[in-house]
Amino acid sequence: VDIGVRVEIPASVFLHLTSITYEPKLIFHSKKFDDQVRTFCVNPYGEVVKEYLKGLWTVNGHSYADRKTGNTNFALLVSTVFTEPFDEPISYGRYIARLANFIGKGVIVQRLGDLQAGRRSTPERIAKGRVQPTLKDATPGDLSFVIPYRYLSDIMEMIDALDKIAPGVNSKHTLLYGVEVKFYSMQLTLTRNLETEVKNLFAVGDGAGVSRGLIQASASGVMAAREIAKRLAL
Ligand SMILES: Cc1cc2nc3c(=O)[nH]c(=O)nc-3n(C[C@H](O)[C@H](O)[C@H](O)COP(=O)(O)OP(=O)(O)OC[C@H]3O[C@@H](n4cnc5c(N)ncnc54)[C@H](O)[C@@H]3O)c2cc1C
Repeated sequence: VDIGVRVEIPASVFLHLTSITYEPKLIFHSKKFDDQVRTFCVNPYGEVVKEYLKGLWTVNGHSYADRKTGNTNFALLVSTVFTEPFDEPISYGRYIARLANFIGKGVIVQRLGDLQAGRRSTPERIAKGRVQPTLKDATPGDLSFVIPYRYLSDIMEMIDALDKIAPGVNSKHTLLYGVEVKFYSMQLTLTRNLETEVKNLFAVGDGAGVSRGLIQASASGVMAAREIAKRLAL
């Protein structure tokens, strides 16, 4: 399961990245927990939106072709693989999302500066911020009541690292929305070439549980196609 927050910043902070590639994919390994944290779903000049996931409100984002805001948003997600005896990552992700809904009556928004200062955001503090939320009905609150320490520590470390390549990410005005949760499909048993246990039957993309994004899904298709072409001696 991937758990994290949606980050909203002035579009100018990420412009040198998003003007080269619409969706920069940045991966970071946290020092404290050695967890993988990644950017996901970057939306230049976009809007943060709510997503209804089987009874729970989580956060997401999108951009419009013909409507721009002054902000860019993206998710910072921490990937967790549980070992044993616990094997219910989907329930775990849903629990955390439910906690945010319980405390915030929906999606919570917090200024990074408030989180760092150990205090909640209030409507007044949000109104004073330089980044105005594009998701208007998120509840100003305190994400530290919702997100486990491990995830929060990973996210703060990555924000610090991101600030080195995009100064301004680690600003007290940066907005964090929680929580964003991404679930993986069950992973099939596959060979390195993505062949299933059934000879000559290949499985790729999200449905096979080998990807959680456009580029990775596409790349997995190319891998399988290369192997098939080799077998057909094309
Ligand atoms: C709201 C949302 C936002 C996202 N944002 C991003 C993002 O910003 N960046 C990013 O990298 N990724 C993003 N993703 C993830 C990305 O869309 C997926 O990782 C990617 O599309 C997976 O590709 P795929 O080919 O494996 O599966 P899909 O794109 O889901 O393709 C599967 C296809 O199979 C078809 N299909 C299903 N069942 C059948 C059937 N029985 N017969 C025939 N056809 C069938 C479906 O209609 C679909 O067209 C987002 C996903 C969602 C839902």
